[in-house]
Amino acid sequence: MNENTEKLRKIIEGSDNIVFFGGAGTSTESGIPDFRSSNGIYSRDYNGLSAEEILSHGFFLYRTEEFYDFYKIFVDYSKAQPHALHRALAQLENEKKLRAVITQNIDGMHQKAGSRRVYELHGSTLRNRCMRCDKEFGIDKIAESYGKVPHCDKCGGVIKPCVVLYEEPLDSSVMTAAAEYISQADVLIVGGTSLTVYPASDFIRYYSGKHLVIINYEETRYDSRAELIIRDPIGKVFEQLGY
Ligand code: NAD
Repeated sequence: MNENTEKLRKIIEGSDNIVFFGGAGTSTESGIPDFRSSNGIYSRDYNGLSAEEILSHGFFLYRTEEFYDFYKIFVDYSKAQPHALHRALAQLENEKKLRAVITQNIDGMHQKAGSRRVYELHGSTLRNRCMRCDKEFGIDKIAESYGKVPHCDKCGGVIKPCVVLYEEPLDSSVMTAAAEYISQADVLIVGGTSLTVYPASDFIRYYSGKHLVIINYEETRYDSRAELIIRDPIGKVFEQLGY
């Protein structure tokens, strides 16, 4: 265990009020690409359109077929499995040391590892809803029509993933809970996020606790406020801690 990992171990050991705030980088070691790394989803070209344009509310409404053709990548990754970080957070919650996981991710990986108090700022690909009658569906329904527009088996309406697309507001109850947990945390571990997607990235400013830890390959705009910065793969870090 290197010096930084040892410091992290001590910080975790000394607290029963830890909150984890994460992003797409927490799932790369499970095989799910992030957005902004060199092989991330943003690096893919889709008929000259960016992922940001496609994953937007207007694009979904007016170019639904193209949206779903692109969106099938999320179905491809739905079988990915959690790694040591996800396992660690679930275990720390069971031990009553971790209060909440707040994530920008939409892949359900924390719940798959056993975490229960998870606030998904951007929703989840695992939940989907008919736009006409509100009937809910799992990702299996999206997988069935792989790349094509999925329709409700009750009323024939178009099914929309319960993910927050660009141009859409975040759920206010999720935002309130996330802000409360962060503002009351003693330790905040921020991992695998470029902290560039607004407003999610701004939640860090609610933090006024004792130990801010950032585990990210690249620099973030909150680095100057962190007590500990780790540039190693986040899953490997938690593996070294024995998870
Ligand atoms: P991002 O792609 O902007 O940034 C990811 C950051 O994580 C980068 O700085 C990268 O260097 C770092 N990173 C990658 N792998 C890492 C690892 N193993 N260990 C440590 N650091 C690592 O992601 P973001 O900040 O979460 O913002 C992107 C948006 O894209 C989010 O809103 C999210 O909803 C969405 N997204 C989600 C998923 C998912 O659910 N898995 C995947 C792609 C994008």
